[in-house]
Amino acid sequence: MTALRLRPLIAGNWKMNGSRAQNEALIADLKGRLASKPDLAADLLVCPPAAYLMQAARLVGGSAIALGAQDCHTKQSGAHTGDVSAAMLADCGCRYVILGHSERRADHAEKSEQVAAKAKAAHEAGLIAIVCVGETEAERDRGATLDVISSQLEGSVPADAAAGNLVIAYEPVWAIGTGRTPTPDDVAAVHAHIRSLLKAWFKDGAEMRILYGGSVKASNAATLMHVAEVNGALVGGASLKGEEFWGIALAAAGA
Ligand code: PEP
Repeated sequence: MTALRLRPLIAGNWKMNGSRAQNEALIADLKGRLASKPDLAADLLVCPPAAYLMQAARLVGGSAIALGAQDCHTKQSGAHTGDVSAAMLADCGCRYVILGHSERRADHAEKSEQVAAKAKAAHEAGLIAIVCVGETEAERDRGATLDVISSQLEGSVPADAAAGNLVIAYEPVWAIGTGRTPTPDDVAAVHAHIRSLLKAWFKDGAEMRILYGGSVKASNAATLMHVAEVNGALVGGASLKGEEFWGIALAAAGA
């Protein structure tokens, strides 16, 4: 069966990077590029650190650039020092939240069950959850990639998900920030697997966007973005450079 052509989403995960001055310059750069090509056939999203969400909300205001966060709590309020709720993110102007990124799974020992609870909280707050899954190099080497992806997806995607509130990001852990990427055939095999699971679980599973992430840059974007069932990119390092991020968006849009 041929894949549906879904409007690509190009999401920038700024991680723990930026300053007020850098954020202002980067968003101004992206707004300028978008103003020169308002018919870009892709959605743009920036996900700055939580401390800068209010600033970024003001900066992207009036443009087609959407705002997202990098994590949220499972609860909407309460005694959880240092945490931020999905309701607060929505209140700050976010439309998306990245959940279950491998850096959070590693640094904060986040388990899939917790990611699903966060995604449910995001949905309750009206946010679109970008749920990340991906195998480590050791898992890949022992041929366990598809099993790992199945179990992460099964554990991390809540039952209330729908195409309007869920995006999956396939990010092989060994490809994040390393400059290494899987072959297009490897990406195609994993994305086809994810698509088949989404279609089996959800009536609109064919319409849920599946992003590829891991060392995407302008120079490899055309190859990666044209793989079947790749509906955009989750971009780390290259999202901090306007020209690179824009180059990826153009490639995904087929412009
Ligand atoms: C990421 O952290 O989500 C990511 C894809 O990083 P990079 O593009 O730097 O590999």
